Amino acid sequence: MAKIRIYKVAEQLGMPTHEVMDILKALGSDVKNHMSSIDEEYIELLQEEREYRKKEEEKNRKRKERTIQLKESPHLKDIARLLDMHWEDIVIKLADWNVIFDSKKPLPPLVVERLAREKNWEIIWEDSLREKTIEALQGGLGIRPPIVTVLGHVDHGKTTLLDAIRRSKVAQSEYGGITQKIGAYQIEVSNKKITFVDTPGHEAFTAMRARGAQVTDIAILVVAADDGVMPQTIEALQHAKAADVSIIVAINKIDKSGANPDRIKQQLSDYGLVPEEWGGDTIFVNISALQKKGINDLLEMILLQAELLELKARHQGYATGTIIESRLDRGKGPVATVIVKEGTLKIGDFFVAGATWGKVRSLFSVNGKKVKEAIPSMPVEIVGFSELPPAGTQYMVIEDEKIARLIANQKQLKEREKSLKGSSAQITSLEELLS
Ligand code: GDP
Ligand code: MG
Repeated sequence: MAKIRIYKVAEQLGMPTHEVMDILKALGSDVKNHMSSIDEEYIELLQEEREYRKKEEEKNRKRKERTIQLKESPHLKDIARLLDMHWEDIVIKLADWNVIFDSKKPLPPLVVERLAREKNWEIIWEDSLREKTIEALQGGLGIRPPIVTVLGHVDHGKTTLLDAIRRSKVAQSEYGGITQKIGAYQIEVSNKKITFVDTPGHEAFTAMRARGAQVTDIAILVVAADDGVMPQTIEALQHAKAADVSIIVAINKIDKSGANPDRIKQQLSDYGLVPEEWGGDTIFVNISALQKKGINDLLEMILLQAELLELKARHQGYATGTIIESRLDRGKGPVATVIVKEGTLKIGDFFVAGATWGKVRSLFSVNGKKVKEAIPSMPVEIVGFSELPPAGTQYMVIEDEKIARLIANQKQLKEREKSLKGSSAQITSLEELLS
């Protein structure tokens, strides 16, 4: 095999000798100096390696050109400047992504990364800045009450159960003057709160979910003990499972003569809902919604399940939430019931809900009492909308009136474009989602 000295190879390839030596050593050769000889076969390898290194260098150089090193958490206008974007465009994008932000605070790191990626930039965080920012933004999570929905086959007793719970726990005096149907309420058991959302059926539950509005933590699956598991029971449980909502089974109408709770346990076990006493992890409670029996057991079980779920939310800062329903009130104008998801909703806050915006003029508990603020999981009626927001819309408080209006206007434009293409009108209640 022909041998060749390294300095000759370097000459031939037009490379500095030290680089040739470097590559050879990396390839495992034990070359001593530039006078050492190597097999000629190495030349091809050397060439390949040099090409590869050149490409890598080029890539690195390009990568460096497209990276932003962050020394401090960027605020909205900072990142706009860095990415050479209009901050208004970023605001609209964030609203599109349903991102909550506060222009006085740094943007969430993931949002910064996503914005940058859209512009072909990569973000490099310094030290543990990313984690620190996330911690600061969360501002301490606090426990929040569970949000519960009642699902089940028609006539199995959903409405009767929701009424029984409400009547047993909400003081009669608080009912004064409420005539309209309310879509949600909150009760207190053993000093703990539970929020009930009155979805009229699992179609509404699914429709809300399709809009990205999942407002349920626990689903009560109502099954009439005399009727047993029916097609809609199965549908409801499948929807709840798909939504990753935990299920408690309420076997209702146990006062009836044909009641057979064991048969229901058997039937539901086939669908993966195995009772605890049979070695599973699903809670079953026997109730009679009509005779108000077992209601307290059911409520205790809800609290137990909620504790296991460790439901938490950010309590500080601007509120976000979901519109449960809206209506035109003769005295108050457009009002909507919202369930707060995070933050604290306050009088005077500017907000956006889809294509509508406004300023919170007053807040009412769902029992009709004036309140000053609303914390996570609390249903609250808001007065101060510019128009009726559709049920299922995400609600977000925005620091600045101008930004709130901007986002709403932008969404309005988009909706107008859509409706010109012949899509549907706004839906203002859960019932309408069904029709
Ligand atoms: P939904 O369609 O699931 O909302 O069912 P409803 O709450 O409207 O109840 C359907 C019917 O079952 C009504 O006539 C109720 O009075 C009756 N019902 C509900 N719960 C019970 C119960 O625990 N025992 C008996 N005997 N009847 C009940
Ligand atoms: Mg009903």
